Amino acid sequence: MKNKTNPKLRTRKILRWSRIAVQILCFLFAASLFSQAFNGVKEVFTAMGKGEPLSWSAFVLRTLVLCGVTILLGRIFCGWVCAFGALGDWIYQLSGALLKKTKKKLPKIPLAWIPWLQKCKYLMLFVILLLCFLGKGGWVTQNSPWTIFSLLTAGNFAIGKFPVAIVLFVLLLIGMAWEERFFCKFFCPMGAVFSLLPEFPVFSLKRKEEQCIPNCKACKMNCPVSIKIGEDPLTEGECIRCGRCMQVCPKKNISLFPKGER
Ligand code: SF4
Ligand code: SF4
Ligand code: SF4
Repeated sequence: MKNKTNPKLRTRKILRWSRIAVQILCFLFAASLFSQAFNGVKEVFTAMGKGEPLSWSAFVLRTLVLCGVTILLGRIFCGWVCAFGALGDWIYQLSGALLKKTKKKLPKIPLAWIPWLQKCKYLMLFVILLLCFLGKGGWVTQNSPWTIFSLLTAGNFAIGKFPVAIVLFVLLLIGMAWEERFFCKFFCPMGAVFSLLPEFPVFSLKRKEEQCIPNCKACKMNCPVSIKIGEDPLTEGECIRCGRCMQVCPKKNISLFPKGER
């Protein structure tokens, strides 16, 4: 008997599994890429604060490459490559499965609060960069939950000298279990950098609004970062190019198109 799977559905399934495979590989082999990229940002502001010329370190070069990729392709790094983002996805899926099994529900963050909470990451970025500018970059690293993640993923369990960072890391894990992409959406300073970048993507998500089902919010409700393509252009820098909205739309109304066809 011939397999009559819709080719569009098949493509979306392939996309979904490809993303999972890429996330696993990146978690295993490039877990600290995001924190290295942010170290590059911190180095730039530390050098500025000291009035020193910028050294083109490996960190700074990684930052530039990731920013270049984001400008061209959107935040594909966040959706597909970043190990901390992947950790958030997996913890949220695990907590969802546990809640389903125990027939329990956690209170949801009201949708109206989300745009305000999303702005916290810009404040976080500002405070960290100011501290780096003032020569306190070492203090930031000492107390950063990313330090714990980087050490653990490198197989180094000597984390006892970072008590504040441990507490913050545990709080983030709880947040990740509660709200999808909790850290990415609300607090990640690297995510703030990415969402502030100008976007000239080769491909961009397009929603044919005129063909939408009235009052349908399926794409927004399923979006890990709570946005609806085309609804508010100011929030589109939040899109992490995960492709979930394309998968859940009952009318298959969202697709990838060259930016010019929007
Ligand atoms: S927002 Fe931050 S933690 Fe989340 S995927 Fe992007 S770089 Fe990683
Ligand atoms: S808008 Fe779509 S592709 Fe972008 S983050 Fe939300 S679900 Fe993923
Ligand atoms: S899920 Fe599809 S039909 Fe519903 S609002 Fe989103 S794009 Fe429109």
